[in-house]
Amino acid sequence: MDTTVLIDIDRLPKEGLRLSRDFEFLSLDLVEENAVFLEPAHAEVAVRLVGDEILVKGEVTARLSFVCSRCLTPFEFPVASKFDLIYLPEELDGLAEELSDEKIDQMYYNGRQLDLRAVVLEQLNLTFPAKPLCAPGCEGICAVCGEIIRDAKCSCVVKETDLRWNKLKLNVRDK
Ligand SMILES: [Zn+2]
Ligand SMILES: [Zn+2]
Repeated sequence: MDTTVLIDIDRLPKEGLRLSRDFEFLSLDLVEENAVFLEPAHAEVAVRLVGDEILVKGEVTARLSFVCSRCLTPFEFPVASKFDLIYLPEELDGLAEELSDEKIDQMYYNGRQLDLRAVVLEQLNLTFPAKPLCAPGCEGICAVCGEIIRDAKCSCVVKETDLRWNKLKLNVRDK
């Protein structure tokens, strides 16, 4: 199941190819190191060759478990991401370097083949937030007792400590 899915562009039918399949990735494959797959990723993809360009259009869906970066609670993170990509043959790579900055995001395939598994994985990784949060306003963990504030188990009164006051106190003590 987790083998690569190579699309041989010389054998692509003229009308293109439609694929619907599951992909099993390892958490190791993901940019988000604490993510765990709750079910395999699923991709619906249409691949078409136009001239030398491979057009890849589709959607990847997945259900993952992330760990909140503030309160460290695991939470479900559903992915449903559409993509519409163009891959150029790698022979043009050298040329592209001389082109404007706009072309920097351009993607390439090499050897008359496109690894669809890698394409889907890349799209999946692009959907991940830099700092996953269980809820937009997650308040994280209480600095006093270490309980998760959302659960409202703690009744600590957190005093706003102002570093400037601390500094003042130190200064007073110094004298
Ligand atoms: Zn949280
Ligand atoms: Zn507390």
